[in-house]
Amino acid sequence: MNRFVIANAQQCLGCHACEVACVMSHNDEQHVLTAERFLPRIRVIKAHNRRNAVTCRHCEDAPCLKSCPNGAIARDSESIQVDQQRCIGCKSCEVACPFGAMQVVTRPVGHGQVKASALKCDLCAGRAAGPACVENCPSGALRLISQKSLTDLAQARRLRAATQEIQPWHGSAQSYQQGQTVTVDLRKVRQMAAVGPRLDPDKIALAARKRGFDELYLTFTPPQAASQSERCLKCGEHSICEWNCPLHNHIPQWIELVKQGKVMEAVEISHQTNCLPEITGRVCPQDRLCEGGCTLRDESGAVTIGNIERFISEQALASGWRPDLSAVAPVDRHVAIIGAGPAGLACADILARNGVRTTVYDRHPEIGGLLTFGIPAFKLDKSLLARRREIFSAMGIEFRLNCEIGRDIPLGQLLDEHDAVFIGVGTYRSMKAGLPNEEAPGVYDALPFLIANTKRLMGLPERDDEPYIDMAGKHVVVLGGGDTAMDCVRTSLRHGAERVTCAYRRDEANMPGSKKEVKNAREEGAGFEFNVQPLNIELDDAGKVCGIRMLRTRMGEPDAEGRRRPVPVEGSEFIMPADAVVMAFGFHPHAMPWLEEHGVTLDDWGRIKASVESQVRYQTSNPKIFAGGDAVRGADLVVTAMAEGRHAAHGILHYLQVPRQWLN
Ligand code: FAD
Ligand code: SF4
Repeated sequence: MNRFVIANAQQCLGCHACEVACVMSHNDEQHVLTAERFLPRIRVIKAHNRRNAVTCRHCEDAPCLKSCPNGAIARDSESIQVDQQRCIGCKSCEVACPFGAMQVVTRPVGHGQVKASALKCDLCAGRAAGPACVENCPSGALRLISQKSLTDLAQARRLRAATQEIQPWHGSAQSYQQGQTVTVDLRKVRQMAAVGPRLDPDKIALAARKRGFDELYLTFTPPQAASQSERCLKCGEHSICEWNCPLHNHIPQWIELVKQGKVMEAVEISHQTNCLPEITGRVCPQDRLCEGGCTLRDESGAVTIGNIERFISEQALASGWRPDLSAVAPVDRHVAIIGAGPAGLACADILARNGVRTTVYDRHPEIGGLLTFGIPAFKLDKSLLARRREIFSAMGIEFRLNCEIGRDIPLGQLLDEHDAVFIGVGTYRSMKAGLPNEEAPGVYDALPFLIANTKRLMGLPERDDEPYIDMAGKHVVVLGGGDTAMDCVRTSLRHGAERVTCAYRRDEANMPGSKKEVKNAREEGAGFEFNVQPLNIELDDAGKVCGIRMLRTRMGEPDAEGRRRPVPVEGSEFIMPADAVVMAFGFHPHAMPWLEEHGVTLDDWGRIKASVESQVRYQTSNPKIFAGGDAVRGADLVVTAMAEGRHAAHGILHYLQVPRQWLN
């Protein structure tokens, strides 16, 4: 008799904790590095208002075993196991499995070769506590079945049938086991059904939003944070929200402490994985990350994780809490960090916590990178970065601001004076559409427009190549459909623009930006023109912008990646009036000849090549230079840049053979 894991659909919450436990169990209890490697051997399925987990049944007459042409699948210790060395990736087993429990995956092994592996439940062979999914299921829906428990189950089913008792699929909480009526534990399921509604944070009044740059959302009050924390079901030790967060924040653990009113304990846990939680809590697109995985998302709405994260830090910092590094022993190593953006700051944080002396160089007068000079103040108040600069400085991190590497100091000098260098310089070359007249007066790139606006708010001098642009009284058209476009739209509205229109070539459903930001922009008075493609910028007799020649589009068939491309509608040209046009098409890496001079290789898009998966993580082709954030992955997110900065710091510690004092 083979053993196997079964799931009880009545008890299953659909929380994915079994998937996370499975992946971690097969990766030395660590999070895997890339989303592509999240390959659970048990899968939670939600369909027709039902939830359940599917995994290998270790069939007695296993069709996968019989289908394998290379003898890679065999019976071993009451289970069906795969010898990965022998797997040739033919997928016969995947076709043969009646439950869809087998998955053949490939990974590159260099020189254009790949290695195939057939992944299926191996019952966590060799794990002392048995299958991790069973151990971590929060509702007790998973059970490891042996010959005896299977006999008992069959017996219970026969008894039910004989007594015409309501069956599990009828929704009863009763079942028979070993001849006795027992109650199925439905506490978690009931808890889920009883959870109160999701609450989003309060916003400042609309009139105030249109006039100024104050932050839009308010921090939760203690009662709001308590009531929202109560909603968390704590789906397992490592839950799917934790997995979906690129920093793998210990979310259920800090939410549990908020429930108990222990904010000081919560902030300690929060800082184990994240050195800027009050910032990620504000700017992360949570609907795509932590909250996107929440078990309650399709029920009563995801737990407001980001706002609880923000609340914890704000409460603790306001009460005087600061990171305590008094137990850290200094080591005789010195690392230079180029760029005080999220990647550089996260790298510096880990190095400081391990006793390494760290100096951060940035060409701007304040730390934060795009947190300070890209993201507008109505999403992220600039005083938060000044406060963090003081906190980091108290942790021993040195900042050299207004200092551009490659101009003020050569990279060679940093390499001579330091044991390693981390590069987190972001991506700053604006993408162009290649439109006729796009260099004309009245056409602006998104980032210099936003940077100059923030500098004015901060009382900093403007630069000749980044002049302040006042949109008051203008008809502004912003080209693009991402978050940067929405930031430009809402900044123009706050200047007092006469009319602001966001023009995007796809439809609203296919906009890449956050839905929350589009909703906020609409509330503030923005107009939208979807399915329009710019052809050229129209100029008046004085050579100034007076409109954009547009062509209407319709959505075509989905491409190989499922994305629908806009198709031009013939004869639909028209002119959209405008006296200011902002181009917000995204960013490419900027040129850094000083970097290539030191043997750092770039890819075809100009991104720095860094070793993501090797033990010396995020090392470049120059062994002494490490890199991470947008400069490596291309323009992305604050939280992904921070995750890479942390990984690179661990790579640097490994390279410098510094013993770990900080385990996260
Ligand atoms: P950056 O933040 O760009 O930091 C790089 C730093 O390096 C800068 O301070 C720069 O001055 C410095 N630097 C560069 N070259 C040198 C040099 N030679 N010498 C010294 N210093 C140098 N992400 C979100 O998650 N949520 C959002 O809401 C969001 N909104 C955004 C809005 C806008 C307008 C933009 C442009 C981006 C937004 N992003 C958002 C993306 C996010 O800001 C970036 O992905 C993130 O900041 C990248 O971090 P980084 O550390 O790699 O680079
Ligand atoms: Fe969610 Fe971002 Fe916080 Fe992670 S860092 S828990 S993704 S808000």
